[in-house]
Amino acid sequence: MKINANYLKLNESYLFSTIAKKVAAYTQAHPDKKVLRMGIGDVTQPLAPAVVAAMRKAAGEMGEKETFRGYGPEQGYPFLKEAIRGYYASRGISLEEDEIFVSDGAKSDVGNILDIFDTDNTVLVPDPVYPVYVDTNVMAGRRIVFADATAENGFLPMPDEGVKADIVYICSPNNPTGAAYSRGQLAAWVAYARKNGAVILYDAAYECFVAEEGLARSIYEVEGAEECAVEFCSFSKIAGFTGTRCGYTVVPHALAGGALNKMWLRRQTTKFNGVPYIVQRGAAAVFTPDGEKQIAENLAVYRRNAKRLSDCLDGLGIRYTGGKNSPYVWLRCPGFDDSWKFFDFLLEEANVVGTPGCGFGKNGQGYFRLTAFGGEDATAEAVERLKKLLGK
Ligand code: PLP
Repeated sequence: MKINANYLKLNESYLFSTIAKKVAAYTQAHPDKKVLRMGIGDVTQPLAPAVVAAMRKAAGEMGEKETFRGYGPEQGYPFLKEAIRGYYASRGISLEEDEIFVSDGAKSDVGNILDIFDTDNTVLVPDPVYPVYVDTNVMAGRRIVFADATAENGFLPMPDEGVKADIVYICSPNNPTGAAYSRGQLAAWVAYARKNGAVILYDAAYECFVAEEGLARSIYEVEGAEECAVEFCSFSKIAGFTGTRCGYTVVPHALAGGALNKMWLRRQTTKFNGVPYIVQRGAAAVFTPDGEKQIAENLAVYRRNAKRLSDCLDGLGIRYTGGKNSPYVWLRCPGFDDSWKFFDFLLEEANVVGTPGCGFGKNGQGYFRLTAFGGEDATAEAVERLKKLLGK
């Protein structure tokens, strides 16, 4: 046999393992110190009661002969696809049920979608960004070019006609920078994709955090996007499904004359056997009136945390993006050009853990990500410590 040698070209993913090692070493040496973790992008609020009730009921159904269910439709039960359709319709976007594909999360779909594209494609990836886009293309051996996201462009790179790409990744609101595109800015990307025969892979995992007028929550808010874009979304951040696992991908019929919808259906029915019925019932409950209300309360916790962090940085005069339309706050490391040195400084002097920006791409060097996904008390305490340390 021959291995896929592309795997040997992957950069080792040291980011979160190094953070864990550094924190473990510090807590071992200083067992009396309370370390506040403001680094990892996982949620902390529990599932909403409406979601839990729906999953309990579904578990009961699975235990009765009359209501037991075996294999379900690979692309999701109609009740959940209808609920997702309703979620888009409430924002003025009309989708067909068979344009929606339910899955076990956005990470899987973002990686798996590459099955339906030739390896002989050039992909354009923003830098910095969620590392999965790069690694999945390295695994397949595709050519990757980067779109620089910098302080100068507000961490929102715009199309460059001099760069010819076939597959364009957009993550908005962005992980890690928290920057979110306006509808007008996305229209420029849609125009680029249509002109160049490219496809946009739009990751909307954080759409529920968009709060400002004029910013897009879905690429389909832009006219013509259905002819050039696939959209990925997830229940992870909106409803705390990071451990429960459910997401969905929209592949419009208008895209490539319907070819990609058919191919993705074929790919999913061949290699995927669907999300558990119990989980899909829980996901559908997110869009019930009770579910929506409870989820809004959970999201409000994260929004308040984000505001605490942003207000703190405003007060300290530290430049940052995110916070308003994102659970992430992305700051210029004050007094440090190296993200890891700032990480060590914060850990040792304030016992606060964040994520070094250099772990998300070369343009992340000198930057740092803090998350609003922690508890309110922990965030408030972290803010006090930051003020004390950095306000000197
Ligand atoms: N997309 C982005 C941009 C993310 O930051 C994450 C997780 O942090 C995901 C996708 C993964 O989502 P899921 O939990 O649905 O796999």
